[in-house]
Amino acid sequence: MKSLKELLIIGPGPSSSHTIGPYRICLDFLRKAEIKDIDHIIVTLYDSLALTGKGHGTDKIIIDTFKNFDVQIIFDFKTDDIPHPNTMRIQAFYKSGKNFTKVYCSTGGGAFQIVGENTDNIETYPFNTFDDMKKILPSFNNDIYALIEYYEGKDIFLYARNLLLKSFDTIRKSLKTEGILPGPLRLKRVSKDIFRRANDMKIGEEKRELLLTSYSYATSEANAASEMIVTTPTCGASGVVPAILYYIYKDLNGDLNKLVRSYLVGALVANFIKQNASISGAVLGCQAEIGSAASFAAASLAYYNDLTLYQIEYAAEVSMEHFLGLTCDPVDGYVQIPCIERNAIASIHAYAAYLLSKNVAIYRHNRVSFDKVILAMNDTGKQLPSDLKETSKGGLAKVIC
Ligand code: SF4
Repeated sequence: MKSLKELLIIGPGPSSSHTIGPYRICLDFLRKAEIKDIDHIIVTLYDSLALTGKGHGTDKIIIDTFKNFDVQIIFDFKTDDIPHPNTMRIQAFYKSGKNFTKVYCSTGGGAFQIVGENTDNIETYPFNTFDDMKKILPSFNNDIYALIEYYEGKDIFLYARNLLLKSFDTIRKSLKTEGILPGPLRLKRVSKDIFRRANDMKIGEEKRELLLTSYSYATSEANAASEMIVTTPTCGASGVVPAILYYIYKDLNGDLNKLVRSYLVGALVANFIKQNASISGAVLGCQAEIGSAASFAAASLAYYNDLTLYQIEYAAEVSMEHFLGLTCDPVDGYVQIPCIERNAIASIHAYAAYLLSKNVAIYRHNRVSFDKVILAMNDTGKQLPSDLKETSKGGLAKVIC
C-alpha cells in the first residue's frame, strides 16, 4: 500500500478528481512534452470529467495551468470506450506539424495514471488490508501510529501537522467569510451564521452538533469557492475530518500532537479504502468519498480517545456501513448540493459511530469487519448505475433544475 503522503495532499478545490487531479496531470504533461514550439494544445475530457467538468471547474484549472499556451477543451459526452470515468487526453500540436499525446485517468483524491504506462509502484506498507495490518501490529505494541511512523519515517508527523493546521486555518477563515458561492445555484455562504448560532447555545448535545456543522460547512464552502484544500481523503468530502478534529482542538482543548497522530491513523483507514475499492465518486458513488471521510474521522476520534484496536476498527466499519449505496448526484455539476450539507451530516454520523464503538462494541463483537465493509462498498458501487456516479444525470441532479 502506498504512502499517506499520496492520500493527504493540498490543491485547488472543489474536487480532488476534477481539479487537483487534472491540475497535476497538466503539470505532468508539461514535464514530459517538449514545450518549445508548441502551437496549440487540445484537451479532451470524457465521461464524468466532461459531464461535470464545467461545474467542478475542470476547464478553468486546465486553462490556468496551460496559461502560456493556446488551449482548446473538448467535452466528449459520447465516447464510452474509455479506461476510467475520469479520462482526459492531452495533445500538443507543434509548429512543425508533429504532435505529442498522452491519455490520463484521474483516479481519485488527486492521484492519476497514464494509460499504457507503468507509473511508479513504490509501496510504503507491506500489507494492503486491515486484517493483514493487525497481524503485525503486536510488534508495534498494537499502536497503529507507531506502525505508521515506522514505515513512513518520522517526518510524516510534520507533514501531517502542516496539513492539519492548514485545514484548521481554512475553517477559521471561512467562518468569517460571507457572500455567494460561484455558479448558477447562487448559494449563500452560511457557516458564519451557523457558528454564531452555535456559540449562542448553552453547552449540550445540540451545541456540539451545530459546532460540527459550522466547521464542516466552513471547509465545504471554501472548497466550493475553489480555495486550496487538503484532501481528507478528497476535496468533495473535505469538510468531515477537519470539523471533528477542529472541534476537539478548539472546543475541548485538544492536544495537537495527539490529534496529528490520530489524523494519520484515520488516514491509514481511508488508504485501505483507496487501495481495495476507490475514493472516487465517479467510480463508486458518494459512499467512496463521504463514506471514506466518515470512516477516517471516526477512526481518528477512536484513536484520540484511546479506544482499543478493535474499537477503532469498529468505528471505521460502522461509519462506512451506514453510507453503503450513497449516490453521487451533484446538482448542475457543482460541488454544493448535496455536498455541503452532506459533509455536515457525515461529521455528526462519524461522531455517532465513535460513540457506538465506545459504548456498544464492548457488549457484542461485530460480524462485519472493516475489510468486509470495503468489499461490500466496492461491490455496491460497481452495481450503481453511472447516472448516479458523478455524472449529474440522476438523483437530485435530475429533479432539481
Ligand atoms: S455528491 Fe458526494 S461524491 Fe458527489 S460531488 Fe458531492 S461530495 Fe463528491
